[in-house]
Amino acid sequence: MERRKFLGRSAAGGMAVGLGAALKPSRGASGLPGKFTPAAHAIPHSKYSPFTTPDYYTFADDLVIERNVPGKPHQGKVLAAVQAHSDDIPLFAAGTVAKLIDEGYTGYLIRLSNDEAAGRTLGYGVVQNEADIQEAARAMGCKRAYSFYYRNHRMDDNAVIEIRARLIFLFRLLQVNTIFAMDPYDHYDENPDHIVAGKAVEGACWMAGGGKDYPEHYKAGLKPAHIREKYYHARSPQGHNLVNRVVDISSYIDHKVRTNVANKGKGPAGTAGVRLRRQLARQGKKLALLGEDDETANLAYVKFFLMDDFHLLGQQFGLEYAEAFRYIGPEPSYAGNIMKYASEHAVPL
Ligand SMILES: [Zn+2]
Repeated sequence: MERRKFLGRSAAGGMAVGLGAALKPSRGASGLPGKFTPAAHAIPHSKYSPFTTPDYYTFADDLVIERNVPGKPHQGKVLAAVQAHSDDIPLFAAGTVAKLIDEGYTGYLIRLSNDEAAGRTLGYGVVQNEADIQEAARAMGCKRAYSFYYRNHRMDDNAVIEIRARLIFLFRLLQVNTIFAMDPYDHYDENPDHIVAGKAVEGACWMAGGGKDYPEHYKAGLKPAHIREKYYHARSPQGHNLVNRVVDISSYIDHKVRTNVANKGKGPAGTAGVRLRRQLARQGKKLALLGEDDETANLAYVKFFLMDDFHLLGQQFGLEYAEAFRYIGPEPSYAGNIMKYASEHAVPL
């Protein structure tokens, strides 16, 4: 019953943010009989990229559009952007990471795999991607990048407890407050590393704040890390994902473009613009948008083709470019609330 109520409210909330046409519970556009309400909503695709946004999103009725905040409201806070592979954060979250760092966060990029599965050979992939993540981290404004070097597409052969323990160490060392990661429940994702990475991050976030897990950390001088905010992104082309936060990245789209161009060894970006320009030149043709030099070609290719899905997503919300997340925010102060209630209502014995 509660679920049905939720879906009804979800539809109303969606209409309020401009998705009305897709959400009207009438036979016709959706093809559904009147007693059903669409619960997942298709997002238009550019068809220029195989996986930048999922086919379907479910929007929560408490969806928030996160916009630019003036000043440095996040000064003193630390974020860790954790990715299985060198192209995950650049493709799905680089705009928001760059935005939060610009608003005061200190940022770190953590890569779990060695990315051997992308490159001319396995060895080339390892070397190129190791160099790429340093450049990608710089393009987002991160202070440092870390790599764990687990074998690519084989991460389910590793003990999750070890990956989680290494993350807990870094979260405590860096005193992380906020994380970005692949959604641990990324529906229909074919890449086994993504699910392993998401689950390891989820557990590490909780355990990093505990006093009993890995007590030797505390004897060595580390402090618990209290991770209060999580931004989970999806990567599942055929997926459907629950979204409760849409971030306006319009001011940071060029950061995101540069981050993806830096990612030469893996993913659909890197030097693809130059390759297309040269391919056309061999045929005696050119595309005006690719400009007259290599750098322009790479930047323009990523912005025009690969960022278009984020433009189409943003347009649904009246934004130039957007990224979508399942956001989990700070928990209420349960003990504090109980003590507040007790102090307000306690009567003399
Ligand atoms: Zn990946």
